[in-house]
Amino acid sequence: MNILVLGGAGYIGSHMVRYLRERGDRVTVFDNLATGHRFLAGDARLVVGDILDPGAVEAVLRQEGPFDALIHFCARSLVGESVTDPALYYRNNVTGTLNVLEAMRATGHRRLVFSSTAAVYGVPQVPVIDESQPAAPINPYGRSKRMIEQVLADYATAYDIASVALRYFNAAGAHPSGEIGELHEPETHLIPNVLRAALGLAPLKVFGNDYPTPDGSCIRDYVHVEDLAQAHHLAIDYLGTHPGAHVFNLGNGNGFSVFEIIAAARRVTGKEIPYDLAPRRAGDPPQLVADASRARRELGWQPRWTDVERIIDSAWQFMRRR
Ligand code: UDP
Repeated sequence: MNILVLGGAGYIGSHMVRYLRERGDRVTVFDNLATGHRFLAGDARLVVGDILDPGAVEAVLRQEGPFDALIHFCARSLVGESVTDPALYYRNNVTGTLNVLEAMRATGHRRLVFSSTAAVYGVPQVPVIDESQPAAPINPYGRSKRMIEQVLADYATAYDIASVALRYFNAAGAHPSGEIGELHEPETHLIPNVLRAALGLAPLKVFGNDYPTPDGSCIRDYVHVEDLAQAHHLAIDYLGTHPGAHVFNLGNGNGFSVFEIIAAARRVTGKEIPYDLAPRRAGDPPQLVADASRARRELGWQPRWTDVERIIDSAWQFMRRR
């Protein structure tokens, strides 16, 4: 297959590129390298460009295409930042994705796999969330992703663009080679921050211990990037036989609190992990845990990284090499 990975020099995108390349697909990466890194794109062809430049997106579709599918990871994805700078989120995540869709229409591309998020659920009314739960995001990041899910439904009806939106819970871990992994600056995500604290690189803060959860810290469902890549690959096949716009949750169905992640990371690393308690972070819901049975059933998704200590260990192996 010939696949365009928008945002393929980022954390999840780079694992996708590697996954496709290991299976022999031709891959073009389109990335502005704002938060991504050139080396993460591996041996794929890299076109440096921005989805905010409609001409650049259309040019890559014409010059490197036709593509069997586009996988679109380009986005701003930090909940806290989206609260303080919503314009950045609506511009990149909404306008940018509309540019991608318009370029697809102009060039006759009809299949898109889109990165969505558990943040579309807001503060869920049930402990474990399936896709029938209402979308009611509580921060601009979640709203920007939900808007595009709605756009995708309309584009499927009107323009015959088939799409799968994958609602990731908390992406974590790194490729087993230790060669690629999560590399954000500044880093805001829990597992890399816990591991940085284990290495003595930066102090760890726990944002809130007064949530309505058993130990007072937030509960999340951590899903390995390799399993996310597998799901995108399956989604491309699915689009071949399923027109329309589809949404799927991707998570393991197990919730871990911030304190449980710290304890697991202590076991994995054998290090003390000191932390300070800090106030709640804006926009964080208390608990997000996936029911991903639809993805298992419809896509045939089989997550392989179901043990949170293995997930943390893979991130640890990557971080120790750097
Ligand atoms: N968190 C924390 N300290 C950190 C980073 C995150 O306590 O340095 C908490 C955060 O408030 C949330 C959970 O860990 O409850 C997961 O946050 P992360 O940013 O990794 O992912 P998100 O759920 O925001 O997508």
